[in-house]
Amino acid sequence: MAGSPRCELCGAAGRVRCQHCRVTYYCNVDHQQADWVSIHEQICQLLIPVCTFLPFPLSEKERKHNVEQLVKRKKHIIDLAYHRAQEFILDGKHKEAIPAALHALRFSTEVYGSNSVQLVPAYLLLAEALAGAGHPLQASKYLSQAEWIVLKTPDCSVAVQCKLQRSLGLFCAAGGNFDQALYHLANEVYLVSSMLGLNSVEAAGGYFHMANIFLRQNKMDVANSLYAKVTSIWHAFLLKSVQAQEQALQSQPEMSPFTEDKELSEDPMTKAQQAEAIRVLRTVLDVREEAPKQQPGETARVLHALAMLYYLAKDLPKAAETAMKALNLVKQLPQPESLEAISHLLELIETKPSYSSTK
Ligand SMILES: [Zn+2]
Ligand SMILES: [Zn+2]
Repeated sequence: MAGSPRCELCGAAGRVRCQHCRVTYYCNVDHQQADWVSIHEQICQLLIPVCTFLPFPLSEKERKHNVEQLVKRKKHIIDLAYHRAQEFILDGKHKEAIPAALHALRFSTEVYGSNSVQLVPAYLLLAEALAGAGHPLQASKYLSQAEWIVLKTPDCSVAVQCKLQRSLGLFCAAGGNFDQALYHLANEVYLVSSMLGLNSVEAAGGYFHMANIFLRQNKMDVANSLYAKVTSIWHAFLLKSVQAQEQALQSQPEMSPFTEDKELSEDPMTKAQQAEAIRVLRTVLDVREEAPKQQPGETARVLHALAMLYYLAKDLPKAAETAMKALNLVKQLPQPESLEAISHLLELIETKPSYSSTK
């Protein structure tokens, strides 16, 4: 921070100062505006204590306390910036995500040091933002940094290694480098399976992205069987989740209308997981519905899984509509698989007492 002020975004000479915090500089108003929209509005006031130097020499105890406070504040900023960038990317606003992702990386470097494996998620996020905003060269630079750190960290967690393989795979796929993309995604599936099993929902993510690549390569047989695998993993997981939630609700004592919100804590999936699962299953459904050779059994299973997902996400109108579609399709099959489960789901949707009172 010492020396002449530098632009928060590009590092050029700082000529414009933020009038709110008075500790942040920019080379021009465009960079100021971009940073404000992305992350600065959220962290403007938080930066004041982080960027201000204490004038007096302090006792050892005070000094230690100050360092701890500073690290805590920086970790809070990392958290805010990281999630903000993630949200922008999920909304498809990659350009807006870049300044927030830059901040996540910068403060991670300050807190953990430049070679720490703790930097890998921030590197990957920044690379994703840059690649999505049309800067593949810069993105690949950050991906290489992440790869290098993981290589140098022998005890790097499997979760971080998986994240890296996923990012490398999607980056290669976006650039049309399908063989390399499949190599990375297969690595991811291998790592996840060795930890959580071949049929975990975590492994389904890797299978899904591999299937998308085979689809783009027009290798329909492999793509189809991988999409079927993705569907059956989610279908089984969601059946269990709906059952678990039903049992949890039954074992609860009679609830008064004022304690409805308590059941939220019984959610088997986080909001982000639900959004991800909906995205995946909707894509598979599109593929199934547009396929030249229809496989009604497979389509019905995707619909059933989606209906359960909407039900767990408390989107009852969509859950009912999708479950009805699944039911009608299943009824036409020679062996009406899952007929009972779908009928039961429809009953649950209709009788959900605490849901129906909200509308
Ligand atoms: Zn600048
Ligand atoms: Zn400010």
